[in-house]
Amino acid sequence: MSLNRPAAIGTPIEEVDTPCLMVDLDAFERNVDTMRRFMEANGLRHRAHAKTHKSADIAAIQVARGGACGVCCQKVSEAEALVEGGVYDVLVSNQVVAPQKIERLAALAARARVMVCVDDLSNVADLSAAAVRHGADLGCLVEIDVGAGRCGVAPGEPVLAIAEAIAAAPNLRFAGLQAYQGKAQHVYDHAERKAMIQAAVDAVADTVARLKDRGLPCEIVAGAGTGTFEMEGTSGVYNELQCGSYIFMDADYQRVKDAQGQVISDFENSLFIYTSVMSKTKADKAICDAGLKAQSVDSGLPVIFGRTDVEYVKCSDEHGVIADPGNVLRLNDKLRLVPGHCDPTVNVYDWYVGVRGGRVEALWPVTARGMCL
Ligand code: PLP
Ligand code: MN
Repeated sequence: MSLNRPAAIGTPIEEVDTPCLMVDLDAFERNVDTMRRFMEANGLRHRAHAKTHKSADIAAIQVARGGACGVCCQKVSEAEALVEGGVYDVLVSNQVVAPQKIERLAALAARARVMVCVDDLSNVADLSAAAVRHGADLGCLVEIDVGAGRCGVAPGEPVLAIAEAIAAAPNLRFAGLQAYQGKAQHVYDHAERKAMIQAAVDAVADTVARLKDRGLPCEIVAGAGTGTFEMEGTSGVYNELQCGSYIFMDADYQRVKDAQGQVISDFENSLFIYTSVMSKTKADKAICDAGLKAQSVDSGLPVIFGRTDVEYVKCSDEHGVIADPGNVLRLNDKLRLVPGHCDPTVNVYDWYVGVRGGRVEALWPVTARGMCL
């Protein structure tokens, strides 16, 4: 990994090697502070989603500066890497069903506070047996599908049997509900997003009431992402939110608007792919060193930050094509690309290069890079 280190502490920004992941620390901190203010004002817990950054350093900042109660991870190996890096409260906001993964999860739960999501009755006995073997306490959220069409049982009645089984299972603790409406997050129109979340809130409220009637109160009602957290957060039903992308934002999240047509909570782009012009043999285009392997383009091509005179128009494995109609770019010119989608972009880098005042102030490893097990 040291061979792949793009800079050292103190390196002037012009001398940082490219392509690399660059974090504008001022903008990043403002995003963290904005989220903290919202959570405090609404009496909510924030369990920041670490799938976005996969970094123990950033998780620590979200807890210490951002007031987060812990983090979510999407993968057992991601959770292991972050616990190893000093994070002690992790929700694996996902199903863990393969025997070898359950084993690792239970081992982790013996050394940190760990919770997991469950959407199948048959999973309960397996989780319980592993937790008993490791002498671990494993918190479980029953996951309901509130419209995303991904994991989760239907809200209402189907939840009860799973919740009761968890409550009765040795070393498992019924902790509440996971109700993440993933499909709503990147819906650009505010009213459309709001309607999707209202439907989710209604389904969650009904499920919470049924559980309460059975003597199973929900300590945690969890969900929400950057696109909708203000809606779940003011619903009076959710109490633990899981925003991830807000720390960085990305080109697609800049297109998701609030009721006034503005960027949500004025979150700023703080994450960039720092890239250099590596070839300029044509008057109307330039080639940069950030291509497909330097980013994820599933949510669209990157946007060049702060420039309207040039445009990133195409990429191949190691090359990015930039339209340069005014022939203004020169060899080794630097550009900041706002990635189309932050989370999978981060996963192809070893390091974050944190900059402030024109110099490198922080180098953070992408702790759980590639951790997909
Ligand atoms: N919670 C869960 C379960 C997720 O899968 C995700 C992202 O996909 C999030 C929270 C965070 O969403 P975002 O990055 O949009 O803030
Ligand atoms: Mn994402």
